[in-house]
Amino acid sequence: MEKLLISACLIGDKTRYDGKSNYHPLIKELLEKYELVPFCPEVEGGLPTPRHPSEIVRDRVINDQEKDVTKNFKEGASKALMICQYLGIKTAILKEGSPSCGKNEVYDGTFSGRKIKGSGITAQLLIKNGIKVISENEIEEFLRN
Ligand code: SF4
Repeated sequence: MEKLLISACLIGDKTRYDGKSNYHPLIKELLEKYELVPFCPEVEGGLPTPRHPSEIVRDRVINDQEKDVTKNFKEGASKALMICQYLGIKTAILKEGSPSCGKNEVYDGTFSGRKIKGSGITAQLLIKNGIKVISENEIEEFLRN
């Protein structure tokens, strides 16, 4: 069975900044066809749960207390890539909108709830290294192909 990396919160792990999950209704269907490898880059980058929310501001990641957490985000992204390379994973399904996992959009860095086009730190690194990244919003299409 092909392995897919998946944002841990999408399978129900309570790894979100607010201690909740983002369980996705198509997880059961995915599990029928793929082996899912859950991973949370922010937790693996050394951040606690719950934690202060962070946003990408130019080339840094800053939390809502103005603390620079770029190092944690980069470490989590590197670990995600290492796992993909070690396990031969070619595709990752990631949570949309996150400063780590977002594929098509992220928050704009003002903590005002506005989103802009862009990718999170982990999504960027995986894409740059040839891993196919699929947004949670594209799971249905992915399953049908
Ligand atoms: S970093 Fe990714 S896996 Fe972790 S809680 Fe945020 S969206 Fe989910």
